[in-house]
Parts: sequence; structure tokens; C-alpha cells
Amino acid sequence: MDPPVHPPGSSWAPPAARAAVAGHGSARGGLVLLLLFSACTREIPILLYHEVGCGTRDARDVPAAEFDQELGWLAGAGYTFVPPEVVEHPERAPDKAIALTFDDGAACLYTRAFPALLRRRVPFALFLPTGWIGADAAHRTRQKLEDGEEVDTLVWPEVAAMVKSGLARVGAHGREHVYLRKLGAAALANEVGGSRDDVLARTGGVADLFAYPFGAFDGRVAGAARAAGYRAAFAVGAGLGGTFAYRRRSVHRGADEAALMKLVGPAWILPWLNHD
Ligand SMILES: [Zn+2]
Repeated sequence: MDPPVHPPGSSWAPPAARAAVAGHGSARGGLVLLLLFSACTREIPILLYHEVGCGTRDARDVPAAEFDQELGWLAGAGYTFVPPEVVEHPERAPDKAIALTFDDGAACLYTRAFPALLRRRVPFALFLPTGWIGADAAHRTRQKLEDGEEVDTLVWPEVAAMVKSGLARVGAHGREHVYLRKLGAAALANEVGGSRDDVLARTGGVADLFAYPFGAFDGRVAGAARAAGYRAAFAVGAGLGGTFAYRRRSVHRGADEAALMKLVGPAWILPWLNHD
């Protein structure tokens, strides 16, 4: 069983906000301001990678040595890697927390990214288009990258090996990686709920995280994710954020240390967006 999202009887409020509520501010305006400041919470940066070391020229294919160096830069800057589900509770996370996610399930994630993640004991989430993931090496599929090059896709035994390490959490990313906003009700349910069924059937574990293909969603798509039983869903880039629209920051090849630090730099959100 998964722990409940909120412990029974708990209500989310940072300690500072609780103290402010308990106190007797003489200046009402000051108290309101203090409450507002206290209510704001740090957003845990979530990085989005696609391929790592697949050997293509695609901008999203980060060379393996570069990826390892990026993990080193983040650790050197004092970041603690946290499992992606921790983003739901930034108040429980260490001071400089960061989460890593990998979309689309290229096979190089197992051969090139996973060894570095394993060596450094970095937790991560894999968001898989489950219709692309073959049963075994004999049923391996190929996928086309944005620049038109093709790479191998993961197969379930490789996914299982990463899960077994205790570092990987498998999330769904639809079955066929299509624009969900364009789908009718049945096709939408098949992509969103069906990919959850696939992850559950193949990993035997939890399947409570979803990532929208292309980061594209609207209220109806987010509602379908909620209805399918996911606990949270991940988008890309800007937006309000929130439990079904976590923002992720996409890492492209060639980022130097300064660019990476800028990418993971602080952002602030109102906590209720992530707590509903
Ligand atoms: Zn994708």
C-alpha cells in the first residue's frame, strides 16, 4: 500500500504560518503580509531529460559524460536528489532538493544514464509510452527523435532492472505518445488509463504518476488523469503548476554549469496549488 498523500488529520501549513496564526499581531496588515510570505513555498525543481548518450545529434540527447558531469555539478552545488513524488511535499524535502525525470524510454537510458544514476544513488522517474516498450529484446521497438533520427526503446526487463535498484519509479506517458487534447473520450481513457494499467501489469508496483506527452494538456486531460487514479501529473515548462500540472525544466545538450544552475534556480509557488 502507498502511504496516504496527507496523513490523517493533517492540514498543510508551514511551521512559520502556523506560528503566525497562533500569534497576536498588532498590525493586521503586517500579519496578512507575513501569512502570505509564509504561505509561499519553494518549488522543488524537476528536471526533464529525454535521451542520455544515445549518440544522436538531437538537441535533447545529452551525451553520457555530460550527464554525469551535470549530476556532479548539482551535487557540488549542495543539491539533494529526491524521488519525484517528494515534489508533492516540498515542506518535507531537504533545503536544496531536486528531482529527475526521464521521458519516452529510450534504451540508452538503461545503458548510459542508469549506471551514472546508480553510482551516485540518484532516485528518478521514468515516464514511459507503454505501447512502445517491448516484452523483451526480441520485441524491441525503435522511436523517432525530434530531429528525425531513430533510437532503440527500452524493453520491460530493463525497466524492471532499474526498478529493482530501488532508484527508479515508473510513471506512465500514454500508450502511443499522442496529443491527448485531440482525443475523444474513449481514446483518451485508453491512453491515460490504459498506460496506467500497463505499468501496473508490467511492474507490479505503483503507477501513480503521469506525464503528458509533449507536455500538452488541458482541463479535460488533467481530469482524465485524475479519474484514471493517478496522484499527480507532470507537464513541461511554464504554467501555474499544481498536482496535475507540475512544471519541469527541460535539459538540452551543451548546458554548461552556469546554464544548469540558472535552469534549476529558485522559483516560488503558492502551496495550495500543489495540495488539493
Ligand atoms: Zn514524451
